[in-house]
Amino acid sequence: MSLPATDSDISDIIARAEAGQRLSADDGLRLFRSQDIAGLGYAANLVRERMHGDRTTYIVNRYLHYSNVCWDTCKFCSFYRKPGEPGSFAKPVEQIVEWARPFRDQGVQELHIVGGLHPSLKYDYYLELLRALRRELPGTSLKGFTAVEVDWFCRLSRKDARTVMRELHEAGLDSLTGGGAEIFAPRVRKLVCPNKIDAARYFEIHAVAHEMGLKTQVTMLYGHVETDEERVDHILRVREQQDRTGGFQVFIPLAYHPENNALGYLPRATGLTDLKVYAISRLLLDNVPHLKCYWISAGLKLAQLALSHGVDDLDGIVYEHERIFHDAGSRTPQQVSEEGLRKLIRDAGRTPCRRDARYNLLETAQA
Ligand code: SF4
Repeated sequence: MSLPATDSDISDIIARAEAGQRLSADDGLRLFRSQDIAGLGYAANLVRERMHGDRTTYIVNRYLHYSNVCWDTCKFCSFYRKPGEPGSFAKPVEQIVEWARPFRDQGVQELHIVGGLHPSLKYDYYLELLRALRRELPGTSLKGFTAVEVDWFCRLSRKDARTVMRELHEAGLDSLTGGGAEIFAPRVRKLVCPNKIDAARYFEIHAVAHEMGLKTQVTMLYGHVETDEERVDHILRVREQQDRTGGFQVFIPLAYHPENNALGYLPRATGLTDLKVYAISRLLLDNVPHLKCYWISAGLKLAQLALSHGVDDLDGIVYEHERIFHDAGSRTPQQVSEEGLRKLIRDAGRTPCRRDARYNLLETAQA
């Protein structure tokens, strides 16, 4: 791809998006180089409304960080602690079950479970955690672990990904989270997370989940050292994988937050960049049904704008203390009430709708 630094005339690309044609890598790069945010928003909104109308979904969920101990040292990560370091923790299964018990009566649709790569927790701990949560919360979907954690479980258990995914699923796991994708380009991974699994392994593990009938998420951590070309490459790798296995139900762009980590000298991506990333993701990813704004990271005000730049899903009603982005300097609220989120959606001209973990609509509120 070799294009001028700015290319504001994107009318031909908008016309092709309007016609429902698949956009190319060159198109994606021209969109990133364009300053025509109004045109981008128009096109992304058109695609979004064609797919989902005015509806904006959200889920009543909780976050479980079972541990923040990790042997790895990804440069953008503010979450991890070394074993024994002040602030490090690894929660016993019994303590987690006690914490989760009230969710049974609170209509919690989904538990989002993530941690680090703990050097001494045994593989059995994760299976027991899932079994115990499944017993305690039979009606709650357990969305757990990144592909990076699953790869770690393979190493702990000396089993292959298919076996580990089957055992996790039998223990209660319903879907995989999308973390660990960062930016797929090897140049970027070498700079910011050199020890992490590569794109091929990430997609291999998600493909195994998809073959088993599980739906998964996929993310993109942008706004650090990646180029526009590497953003486009990342999004198109997702599109190619989705053509093959079809199990990604949502794409989640996440802006890098620069506090308390080794890349803290970098500025936070601007709101304009955030909106561009949402809009271009929606335009390029014609085969991934949903585009999520994770308001915990993006902020509620930007989340409202994102609803007219391609986003159709907001995450979520979160009550438990969120660590990953708040440790990295996010100033967003730790929680928002369901009525607060619905008002935010209605004020953006959309119709709020509660969903389950598989994006089945549970009800529709009137705008
Ligand atoms: S991003 Fe994940 S793997 Fe990397 S240091 Fe943080 S917790 Fe560990």
